[in-house]
Amino acid sequence: MKHESIDRAKLHHYVGGQKVDGRSGRFGDVYNPALGAVMKQVPLASEQEVKQAIQAAADAFPAWSATPVGRRVQVMYNFRELIRKHMDELARLVSSEHGKTIEDAKGSITRGLEVVEFCCGIPQLLKGEYSASVADGVDSWGMRQPLGVCAGITPFNFPAMVPMWMFPVAIACGNTFVLKPSERDPSCPLRLAELMTEAGLPENVLNVVNGDKEAVDTLLTDPRVQAISFVGSTPVGEYIYHQGTAHNKRVQALCGAKNHMVVMPDADMQQATDAVMGAAYGSAGERCMAISVVVSVGNEPADALLEKLTPRLDALKVGPYTDENAEMGPVVTPDAKNRIESYIDKGMEEGAILVRDGRGLQIAGHELGCFVGATIFDHVKTDMSIYREEIFGPVLCIVRVESYEEAVRIVNEHEFGNGTAIFTKDGDTARDYCNRIQIGMVGVNVPIPVPMAYHSFGGWKRSLFGDHAIHGPEGVRFYTKLKTITSRWPSGIRAGAVFNFRQGGEH
Ligand code: NAD
Repeated sequence: MKHESIDRAKLHHYVGGQKVDGRSGRFGDVYNPALGAVMKQVPLASEQEVKQAIQAAADAFPAWSATPVGRRVQVMYNFRELIRKHMDELARLVSSEHGKTIEDAKGSITRGLEVVEFCCGIPQLLKGEYSASVADGVDSWGMRQPLGVCAGITPFNFPAMVPMWMFPVAIACGNTFVLKPSERDPSCPLRLAELMTEAGLPENVLNVVNGDKEAVDTLLTDPRVQAISFVGSTPVGEYIYHQGTAHNKRVQALCGAKNHMVVMPDADMQQATDAVMGAAYGSAGERCMAISVVVSVGNEPADALLEKLTPRLDALKVGPYTDENAEMGPVVTPDAKNRIESYIDKGMEEGAILVRDGRGLQIAGHELGCFVGATIFDHVKTDMSIYREEIFGPVLCIVRVESYEEAVRIVNEHEFGNGTAIFTKDGDTARDYCNRIQIGMVGVNVPIPVPMAYHSFGGWKRSLFGDHAIHGPEGVRFYTKLKTITSRWPSGIRAGAVFNFRQGGEH
């Protein structure tokens, strides 16, 4: 198997339409997870460096927000073409730092690309509303205007897609942007910013600062930043929501998950097995919409599922992204591998039945790689930590319940509310589930019900803090504020001085 050369390249920030070296003296390690080796170093920005990026974005705002929307959209059309042209290169950047397979990386970039395509239609969404003659000679209209400097703070698991949930929408709406990507896989977001410049975006409109808590805290407290979009874990997201709103910013914080797939006794078990394979183990379970719990209504679905699933797990090809046959890659870092394996230890201590154990998996030629094999626990109870907490790895829990009502209750009682699915052939049950379940995104015989770019993505409960889901119409609302104008024309109509509100739209 071919290894990439280890050069520990130093990465940079991207400000003012160009690469900028880090000056803080602090760096973070970027791994190639398939090798378990540090390949690159990412600069961790100081407060001063972040403030310079914010100032760049603030300087660019007046001209960019005044640029006609049709011209802003041309940048999006060009960006779309550049992403398509550079798809292979971008996928390699994602896979080499995240670990996911090339096909999976391309799929995730395509989901981001769809948001860019949605942004090509932004003039339609910014049109506003108009009411003629709300009173004699008086017209009224509402228009949505950009906020100013917006910031995005993104997680490691989708280094291309999640930034593209944010900056294309914000920028198409007329805002300027500072992106703080995950310090674990920053190369693809940096490259996307370069492609935006190549697409014709004026310098300073999109800036990327790499960093950790120091950079994030600067974005949260600087008064020039108007809005913060965050995607990541719940403890960090909750902190960001409270800090950001305390500093009078608009905040959307999309957070952690524990997604349940309820399998009814009448489900098509072949379809359910295929669904679990992809949804639990794709991207090594490092997806916020991964299925991490199967709720079997009665014993029958769990038994049938295990019978079909276990031989397929035994045949699952785990390997590095450089192996075209690999179906599942490593997890992101040695720390992530240790954390996931310690959850498997804990599940055993807690008394769950370990049906398949992914610990200690070795891949020939990649002995230090961060590989964790596909793992299944059966007879998991709802008070166990492997059920309550997000593991974010290829570990599936099977919970057996006696009735549909019990399934609904446990899903609704879980602290997270990102996604869920029900597998059944019964329309009444599916409809009832959709109506009563306290979850933001629901699939019926669809295991990962990720909304398309022209809908909005977001969970409920402790999976989202703030009032807006991301991209689609909610994204446009988040990145714009409403202004309502009431005007009297012709100016010759005199209403006289009015001291009281009047009925019937008199102004
Ligand atoms: P994370 O919370 O560790 O990091 C996310 C971002 O926050 C990174 O940019 C990181 O630098 C920053 N950060 C980390 N610690 C911080 C701190 N103490 N103060 C300020 N900033 C800090 O998340 P992660 O491990 O990169 O990503 C995995 C998590 O993201 C999972 O919980 C997953 O469910 C979640 N996620 C959620 C969604 C969603 O849409 N709900 C989508 C993708 C990922």
